[in-house]
Amino acid sequence: MFERLLIANRGEIACRIIRTARRLSIATIAIYSDADRRAMHVELADEAWPVGPAPPGESYLNIDAILAAAQASGAEAVHPGYGFLSENSDFAETCEQAGLVFIGPSAAAIRAMGSKAAAKSLMGRAGVPVVPGYHGDDQDPDTLGQEAQRLGFPVLIKASAGGGGRGMRIVHNAAGFASALASARREALSAFGEDRMLIEKYLERPRHIEVQIFADRHGNIVHIFDRDCSIQRRHQKVIEEAPAPGVDQQRRGAMRKAAVTAARAIGYVGAGTVEFIVPPDASEAFYFIEMNTRLQVEHTVTEAVTGLDLVEWQLRAAAGEKLPVRQPELTLSGHAIEARLYAEDPEQGFLPQIGTLDRLHFPSPELARVETGVREGDGVSPYYDPMIAKIIVWGDDRSAAVSRLQRALGETAVLGLRTNLAFLARVARHPDFVGGTVDTDFVERNRNIAIPGERPVPDAACAAAALYRLSRREAVAAASAASSPDPFSPWARSDGWRLGEKAAWSMTLRCGVEDYQIEITRRDGERALKFGDRHLTAALEMRADGLGDLTLDGVKRRVRVLDDKRVTAVFFDGESWPFEEVDTLAPSIGEDLIAGKLTAPMPGRVARLFVEPGAAVRRGAPLVVIEAMKMEHTITAPADGVVAAVRFSVGELVEEGAELIALAPPERQQQR
Ligand code: ADP
Repeated sequence: MFERLLIANRGEIACRIIRTARRLSIATIAIYSDADRRAMHVELADEAWPVGPAPPGESYLNIDAILAAAQASGAEAVHPGYGFLSENSDFAETCEQAGLVFIGPSAAAIRAMGSKAAAKSLMGRAGVPVVPGYHGDDQDPDTLGQEAQRLGFPVLIKASAGGGGRGMRIVHNAAGFASALASARREALSAFGEDRMLIEKYLERPRHIEVQIFADRHGNIVHIFDRDCSIQRRHQKVIEEAPAPGVDQQRRGAMRKAAVTAARAIGYVGAGTVEFIVPPDASEAFYFIEMNTRLQVEHTVTEAVTGLDLVEWQLRAAAGEKLPVRQPELTLSGHAIEARLYAEDPEQGFLPQIGTLDRLHFPSPELARVETGVREGDGVSPYYDPMIAKIIVWGDDRSAAVSRLQRALGETAVLGLRTNLAFLARVARHPDFVGGTVDTDFVERNRNIAIPGERPVPDAACAAAALYRLSRREAVAAASAASSPDPFSPWARSDGWRLGEKAAWSMTLRCGVEDYQIEITRRDGERALKFGDRHLTAALEMRADGLGDLTLDGVKRRVRVLDDKRVTAVFFDGESWPFEEVDTLAPSIGEDLIAGKLTAPMPGRVARLFVEPGAAVRRGAPLVVIEAMKMEHTITAPADGVVAAVRFSVGELVEEGAELIALAPPERQQQR
């Protein structure tokens, strides 16, 4: 076994590899970009070497710099993780030439599967069923158009070099073909540097089912069961599970066999995934879409149902060891589900978000395995994938796993930027998901899961926020009284006590665009709350970790309350309600704006503008979209205000730090 391993990656996957390597007594060497100097993977590794500036092209994709770090640090092997260089055959080859063991398949195997078009032809020849389509060399738009006609609409245009759902367009009729082809080509060229396209029959409401395979250097290949990854947005997975639910044994067996055939056809070594799409009917049909020649993000669900450590298997196979088991010895137990928590805004087409994870709370290890590469206080930068964590649950059967997932998401809380947490929680509660009826159209069909529309703020959220803030005020008052020369003076009290009057407090809490004026009075150890025409009796007892027992008109429930300088957020049932206390006498602008992000977070291009000078905006309203690193980032209003100036127009390039928009305090209503 190796003694020194370099991990050519970052974030949660680097952390996850480090943990296994450490258990096997392998010294770990991390690499990091300028943006990651204090990142968790750097802290966790035994050593860490800088490889360049923040943009991935100059650091995590910089083969020369990574190789130099590997050699200087005395690494014997390189684990590429996933993403970045994990499927780059040149990198695999360069490592081997430099005498470093690449933890993955041969450069030839990566190359064979690197082009979707070539992979499909290869699989077709090996007898693995592929989606009917055109994978030819003739890329003339007319030829492609004729092939689409021949297949019959709807068709899917795909970039041959594609990944991450980019360069992909669904076309429903001949009239829309030419423009969809042109725009898919543009996107592919910008994302992958080439625009070769293939045309496929578009299957309606298919499932995405994939088979984990594993091979050693001695010709042994096993499959490690299947996963369903049908819950997707933008053709990208967000919830995955193992095994795939409700698949007929015949079909399942045939898919597993086809996956092993596919791996054998290219002399595969290591961990790989063969992906299929499966029509919704009860036939036995399934079609190969691609093979990923690396570990997948969702490998954790396979680990959960088999008890294996796939990173350990990868390291052992790369070191030349034989597979420790034969196919019949592999057994599957229970059901596992993974949910990917992202810094992204479901209400804006799942656009990635950037910012600071001011508060972060994950479920306990008894409830879920959490894989993450960030800690409370860390930033989510525009440079890399905005995934915050993977939350993985296991249960004796699928329904036990689903209810654990619901609980685990309910125990998760993030404050500081927008996430898909509530979206995940709504998927986990949706009757179709609960019943195991999943397909890749699920998110599109259930748009209200991503965009729930107006949600009334529950009384429980309002009450918890008000009582929490009140207890904070009281704590501050008690502390200042204790340090004053006359701690018992009524003047030092700020608990609402008044001579000859009932204690009463008042505060205004803002949630979204709604303001809640709340009156609180003390009543026998509990509080009486009044907001609008509602009268409630409430008590809040806080425990560790932000967990609290809220009693509302006698009914007790668990809530989590987290706060940072500005916001107090109440979490329950996987939903969250952030409140800001509004000082109705003070102007609502100031500190907010100074700390605001109205400058370009990185060099890029203005892709969209939502406002014009003079427009009044509420806090959180989208102002401008910057396209950078092939991704879009929305800049939102940090406070209520009026747009004083827009410094750039759509299409213009902006430097990092350039001011995009000037925001002025909101105009006060004129008193007459
Ligand atoms: P990428 O490499 O960009 O991830 P894939 O080829 O793996 O692209 O496909 C991603 C997703 O797109 C699939 O999981 C599936 O949801 C959808 N998809 C791919 N091919 C088809 C098809 N022929 N019909 C319907 N949906 C498809």
